[in-house]
Amino acid sequence: QFLENRQPENHSPADRNRTAIRTLAGTGPSYRYRDLYEESGRWANFLTAEGLKPGDRVSVQIDKCSQGITLYLGCLRAGLVYHPLNTAYQYGELEYFIDNAQPTAVVYSAPYANNLHRLAESRGINCRLLLGPEHSVDLHSYEPAFKTVPTDAGDIAALLYSSGTTGRPKGIMLSHANLAANARALVAAWAFSDTDILLHALPMFHVHGLFVALGCALMSGAQLVYLPKFDVDQVLKELPAATVMMGVPTYYTRLLAEPRLSRALCRNMRLFVSGSAPLLAETFKAFEARTGHTILERYGMTETNMNTSNPLHGKRKPGSVGLPLPGVEVRIAGPDRQPLAAGEVGDLQVRGPNVFKGYWQMPEKTREDFTADGFFNTGDIGVIDTDGYISIVGRSKDMIISGGLNVYPKEVETVLDSLAAIRESAVIGVPHADFGEAVVAVVVPQAAGAVDEQAVLAAIKGQLANFKQPKRVITVTELPRNTMGKIQKNQLRENYRALF
Ligand code: ATP
Ligand code: MG
Repeated sequence: QFLENRQPENHSPADRNRTAIRTLAGTGPSYRYRDLYEESGRWANFLTAEGLKPGDRVSVQIDKCSQGITLYLGCLRAGLVYHPLNTAYQYGELEYFIDNAQPTAVVYSAPYANNLHRLAESRGINCRLLLGPEHSVDLHSYEPAFKTVPTDAGDIAALLYSSGTTGRPKGIMLSHANLAANARALVAAWAFSDTDILLHALPMFHVHGLFVALGCALMSGAQLVYLPKFDVDQVLKELPAATVMMGVPTYYTRLLAEPRLSRALCRNMRLFVSGSAPLLAETFKAFEARTGHTILERYGMTETNMNTSNPLHGKRKPGSVGLPLPGVEVRIAGPDRQPLAAGEVGDLQVRGPNVFKGYWQMPEKTREDFTADGFFNTGDIGVIDTDGYISIVGRSKDMIISGGLNVYPKEVETVLDSLAAIRESAVIGVPHADFGEAVVAVVVPQAAGAVDEQAVLAAIKGQLANFKQPKRVITVTELPRNTMGKIQKNQLRENYRALF
């Protein structure tokens, strides 16, 4: 479905020859749209010749390189299920993913070759490929022409695992229809066109880089400037030529830390998008002051792709993830799953063509997480204001119950973050004999040295009810984050398990 309207025969010669992917040194060749079409055809022919059948999984652990895109598209065209792996995963972790996904083929670039080769060999997975300059496949000996396997919209296109922020990563089955619906909704919401140049610094094993960014570009005929990773110097160098950038919040804080970031550098930009983790209102405001651009925050997850977005035209509210995307329904439900009114905090549920088919080999979990009327319970807690804007308050698993009362960490974090001495904070619940759970704040100081615990507690006293006030304030030099910039509260809870 992705490449359908980009097929050479449906395009003028000028369209076919336009650049789709522009790479910098070290990330593989650049591609015109016609090349993407042809090379994905070669991949599809190769994989089919290797005996892979529609529905088979192809597990991929590769450094970001443009050939990874043609491989991905080749899998889609051959009806294979693309399964990208985080490049940070080590042997023990890979064992879980490979045994869970049960791929028929594995693809790796050189740094991951040992692990994956060993694993695949011991499990009798015979199709093993090295991707990169040393390439183990001679793609050019395969024909570029390939008749895309007709798939039913509901067939699985990709198996992505969640980031593992709240527990073991879950396999998530995304259909061709899910991917297409999301790309279309985003192209419409963000007005993507073939005049756009999208600066792509995100990883490709996650929804953000793989579906949101690549999907918008391919669906609209835009050009990608394909960076190997987020590198401040490289991003600053490429910004002036770009019209759109997508990033996780840490990209924006890192750009702001760079005095060279200026209005002039952003002169051709029309849109900065942020997601995958909460964007602090402070970052939103500082970015606007420096560049004149308000960052557009959107909200999604592996299970659903994107659900909501601040508007392209219209007010972008800091701290809010905006309005439901076209075709997506969002509602907030109470403890008995009854719908709640504006301003009330509860479970955020979504329904729409973007929502996944189910968890891979976890039918019970799938059943548990869907309501009788087909809404998916996201596990996030949210609230909708009277203008219809949605804010994420946190995750239900992070909610603290102290002395029988609910404490939303975000509320406490917002108060802590507003103190001059604190750069950022994470509020967690840890076991406590009297309270069940005690509220604990883990904070990163603005300047070197420990934050004065008593001074912090005194400063927030008048701002929060007693039961929400942290029992302890612990200073750390940085908060543990995963590759998507998400704070790993699991790890913090583990670290401070025996505090009381
Ligand atoms: P796991 O499900 O394995 O615990 P995860 O939920 O972090 O991991 P992802 O699917 O990558 O895995 O992340 C989706 C989550 O990221 C959402 O459920 C939400 O909690 C968070 N998120 C995404 N965008 C935003 C945003 N703009 N603001 C706040 N949170 C966001
Ligand atoms: Mg999740």
